[in-house]
Amino acid sequence: MGNEEKRIVMPDYSEGFRCIAGKCRHSCCIGWEIDIDEKTYEKYRTVSGPIGEKLRACICAPSDSEESLPHFILGDNERCPFLNSENLCELILGLGEDSLCEICTEHPRFYKNCSGHLEMGYGLCCEEAARLLLSHSEPVRLIGISENGGLRSEIFSLLQERTNSLDARIDDIFGLLSVSPSRAVLASDASDISHWGAFLGELERLDPAWDIEIGKLRSASLTREDLASFDAYMEKEGRAFEYENLLWYLIYRHLTDDPLIDEATLCVEFAVLSVKLLHYLGACKYKENGAFAKDEQVELARMFSSEIEYSDENVDLIYDHIFDLQESI
Ligand code: SF4
Repeated sequence: MGNEEKRIVMPDYSEGFRCIAGKCRHSCCIGWEIDIDEKTYEKYRTVSGPIGEKLRACICAPSDSEESLPHFILGDNERCPFLNSENLCELILGLGEDSLCEICTEHPRFYKNCSGHLEMGYGLCCEEAARLLLSHSEPVRLIGISENGGLRSEIFSLLQERTNSLDARIDDIFGLLSVSPSRAVLASDASDISHWGAFLGELERLDPAWDIEIGKLRSASLTREDLASFDAYMEKEGRAFEYENLLWYLIYRHLTDDPLIDEATLCVEFAVLSVKLLHYLGACKYKENGAFAKDEQVELARMFSSEIEYSDENVDLIYDHIFDLQESI
């Protein structure tokens, strides 16, 4: 069955997603190389008029030697050459949305091919996708599929058991996965925050703003009391669900719908560690300012996703690090 024929499953919170274009503070048209698929490239070669001339001047054509795909030649500050001064796309304005290449049409969607259906969602590296996830206070549900009672749905139902604390829910998930207490403690240990700051500092980084955030972790003097007071603040603000949703997203995005137990264990450990780090980063901001705005949470999640989640190399290094630490227990 081809992807076109499969029914699409997606999380309910992202149903109303729309790119905020000119209002976006971190446009995905800045800082990323944009490859152009063959079909669109051929179409662009035939466009006439000034926009056609600009297309031909701003695309690096494939050569036999190095490049395998044509791509846009980025301008100053790594801006897409078709992003105008109001951060709007000149190709959409001049030729319509249908003129976009596959990457520009699909981003920030991700897809997972499952048996019988296609799962999709919106990556957190997009600030609007992050805002939608972090504004959805009800437990996230999937649209287009009924719970199948498999391992992933059991993980989701333990994760969304809101009568328990999030730490207790994580313990229950590790219990379900038969993770030994020492291994589970490793992933949820709050005692060595600066270790994780130093580790993140060794990974490839893109944005100096992310460096500043992880620098705070390196020098963090957060105590258990600081973390408890941050948790009480988030509870009082009615925002404790944000960390549940971040965990939900990371598991949904990185785990198949019918995983083997080892696969699920590694993925859950990666997700728990990621959310712990975001929690520490939020607690640092709260300690600094006595408050932690929703926008700051959205921005931390977006940066984490761009810097870590969207870098296969960094994700692999985190998996390796988790594995090494467990071997050393
Ligand atoms: S990051 Fe998201 S909201 Fe911003 S321009 Fe890209 S798709 Fe639109």
